[in-house]
Amino acid sequence: MHVWKDRAGFEAEATTWGVRRAVGIEWDEVEGEALRALQPDLSPDYRFAVRVGDSAHCRDPGGYVAALVAHAERRGAGVVKARAVDFTFSGGRLTGVVTEAGTIPAERAVIAAGIRSTDLAVRLGLRVPMESERGYHVQFEGLDLGPVPPVMIQDRKVAITRLATGLRVAGQVELAGVDARANWRRAEVLKTHLLAVFPGLAEAIRSARAVPWLGHRPSTPDGRPVIGRSPHPDVLVAYGHGHIGLASAPRTGRIVADLLVGRAPEIALDGFSPARFDGFGGI
Ligand SMILES: Cc1cc2nc3c(=O)[nH]c(=O)nc-3n(C[C@H](O)[C@H](O)[C@H](O)COP(=O)(O)OP(=O)(O)OC[C@H]3O[C@@H](n4cnc5c(N)ncnc54)[C@H](O)[C@@H]3O)c2cc1C
Repeated sequence: MHVWKDRAGFEAEATTWGVRRAVGIEWDEVEGEALRALQPDLSPDYRFAVRVGDSAHCRDPGGYVAALVAHAERRGAGVVKARAVDFTFSGGRLTGVVTEAGTIPAERAVIAAGIRSTDLAVRLGLRVPMESERGYHVQFEGLDLGPVPPVMIQDRKVAITRLATGLRVAGQVELAGVDARANWRRAEVLKTHLLAVFPGLAEAIRSARAVPWLGHRPSTPDGRPVIGRSPHPDVLVAYGHGHIGLASAPRTGRIVADLLVGRAPEIALDGFSPARFDGFGGI
């Protein structure tokens, strides 16, 4: 659910919502008492919302990823925890991925290392411009309170979600480079927004243990990921999903699996090709 102080706020974003409508996303508009009934704890300052139908949210992102790994292992995948640093080739074909724990023999590889993918891609002569849109969240551990469904507070650019593990407020963008130290004042800012939007939960929020987190949204200049072949045909790339990597990963995974076994992917990949950037060099 996306909320605004009034309908005018929604109408000011007509262009973006028009794009959503054009690609088939549907929603209900909710105002006044109807909104109060759905979100009783929401501040009365927020009087207009849209509820996007046919959607879902993940109640435990960390648990979800861990379960995917466990599922892959049950299907025969092996997990090696080591930093990859380079590739080895022989006769123009990939022979291995060099890691800090040794070289793993490989005939195909996929670079899917989030914001750190660039370090590996340059080993292949690929220069995709990418920057971290750093984002913070604060989770109030174990707090089983707050909005259902989650709300995106449009004027504050924060999302508030009741997770299986606690109440989480997340969002905003900080452009400070990948390796800069976390600025935990940003987590305080998020907490201030949460208290302003859900004032009735203030006591519970203040007495819960607050755990802050900083993450990286790996973002390209045109906002689209790079999915496809690197300058070396045996190495694929799948990174740069910015704000929507969790939601779009399953689709990207299916496309990459198709490319790995030589099947035609289900969509045309021209718009996602790393070659759209100038730095698509040779090996
Ligand atoms: C505050 C915040 C809120 C967000 N909310 C949402 C949301 O609501 N919905 C959504 O879809 N997305 C959301 N995102 C974006 C999402 O988190 C990212 O798009 C996603 O994590 C990118 O996935 P990835 O696998 O490419 O990279 P990552 O999740 O960063 O994973 C990369 C992995 O590669 C490993 N790695 C890095 N370098 C190497 C190396 N050299 N060798 C081996 N391994 C390496 C890392 O350790 C890591 O495990 C949010 C992000 C932030 C910061």
